[in-house]
Amino acid sequence: MTFTLAIVGRPNVGKSTLFNRLVGKRLALVDDQPGVTRDLREGEARLGDLRFTVIDTAGLEEVTDDSLQGRMRRLTERAVAEADACLFVIDARMGVTPTDEVFADILRRANARVILAANKSEGRAGQAGVFEAYGLGLGEPVPLSAEHGEGMAELHAALMPIADAMAERRAVIADEAPVTDVDVIDGEDAPDWAPRPGRPLQVAVVGRPNAGKSTLINRILGEERLLTGPEAGITRDSISLSLDWDGVPVRLFDTAGMRKKAKVQDRLEKMSVADGLRAVKFAEVVVVLLDAAIPFETQDLRIADLAEREGRAVVVAVNKWDLEADKQGRLTQLREEFERLLPQLKGAPLVAVSARTGRGLDRLREAVVSAHAVWNRRVPTAALNRWLGEMVTAHPPPAPGGRRIKLRYATQAKTRPPGFVVMCSHPDRMPEAYKRYLVNGLRLDFDMPGTPIRLTLRGQG
Ligand code: GDP
Ligand code: GDP
Repeated sequence: MTFTLAIVGRPNVGKSTLFNRLVGKRLALVDDQPGVTRDLREGEARLGDLRFTVIDTAGLEEVTDDSLQGRMRRLTERAVAEADACLFVIDARMGVTPTDEVFADILRRANARVILAANKSEGRAGQAGVFEAYGLGLGEPVPLSAEHGEGMAELHAALMPIADAMAERRAVIADEAPVTDVDVIDGEDAPDWAPRPGRPLQVAVVGRPNAGKSTLINRILGEERLLTGPEAGITRDSISLSLDWDGVPVRLFDTAGMRKKAKVQDRLEKMSVADGLRAVKFAEVVVVLLDAAIPFETQDLRIADLAEREGRAVVVAVNKWDLEADKQGRLTQLREEFERLLPQLKGAPLVAVSARTGRGLDRLREAVVSAHAVWNRRVPTAALNRWLGEMVTAHPPPAPGGRRIKLRYATQAKTRPPGFVVMCSHPDRMPEAYKRYLVNGLRLDFDMPGTPIRLTLRGQG
């Protein structure tokens, strides 16, 4: 059984050193697409018989204490939201510093499951710090030396209850007995599309004020009658809430609509844009909620475009459908407008819903799940290259200056969203139109509607 662990703490306590020790060379692909922000490193960790995903928040050495409130706090909060548990690292040689206290506070507020680690505790110099760490009130510190690999058995012991709790929780959600032999799909040999059982689908509902975001979310929560008790039920932290949406574990990211609203309209607009942007960064699938009476306003288009550029799967939901008289005609019209105004989201699902009556919510859920699946899709290399051959035969690349551009080989470099690399001669001379031809072909032939597809051309060498 697998889970996600975020390594958090102030700069220089040894987070990266520990990350590298746990992950070794099994680093996840780092996204180098422009416009895609991926500032949290992820890797697949191994510790004895445990396999888990680890999120690193390090790499912020340049950050001074002054901006701790800003970027670092946000990054940490995000890591905490994405993870099942946090490993809070302090430097045993330094003892507990005021900055450590700030982090402890973030973790307490987020109600995170915390394991405290006192790093650099090899030798005598660390002993005092380990005792000081008890004072944080976050449980018994695990003395570690990331650099020397000491304390790993203790860390393993501290992580075991979390692995067990996750397995149990998943069993509750999936309504089946804990499966104990599936962790073979993790680890080194596993393809990275291997499903992660029980990992909630990260969803953000964004849209203009009054589109109906809060109504929608309350409706989804309201229909959740099955779950009781704090563990299996709806949990809420500062920025997200987790729920089981008719059998689909989902983590919904907070936007303005989910919180108490400001009174002044102007402030509301600002808040909603900023929160919308933040929610998009957290999410895997972004639900852009439109008001059927006033769809595709500038603000709607901006947020949908942003979601695409950030590489998120997008589902468009048109709300307040109960108020529409000519439903069929209106839907056709909306689909046309959608294709024209958001060509970059070609094929993304458009679902009509009524948050008020609950109509269409089943279809919305299905659209979210399938958009997520497409976003995660991996095309086998052999099929991809057969396809490339056919594409070239059907329509050969141009020959600028009399020398034909040769496409040699294609491979899928990443998923989430799908990213492809095509090796060719003279990549710089390839016209955009031919790239679009390839991207549209990938979309159609491998059935990847609505997800952003990245295509990179590379020369030899
Ligand atoms: P980060 O800010 O959390 O990413 O910290 P780093 O992993 O970059 O480590 C900061 C410094 O602490 C580096 O010089 C590491 O070599 C050192 N360091 C990390 N772990 C240990 C340890 O267990 N013992 C000692 N003595 N130094 C360590
Ligand atoms: P938010 O600002 O996006 O969170 O929007 P709200 O959820 O507060 O909804 C704004 C207004 O639209 C409220 O008056 C809701 O009652 C109304 N509303 C939301 N969804 C629907 C719907 O499906 N049908 C109708 N007729 N009204 C809706």
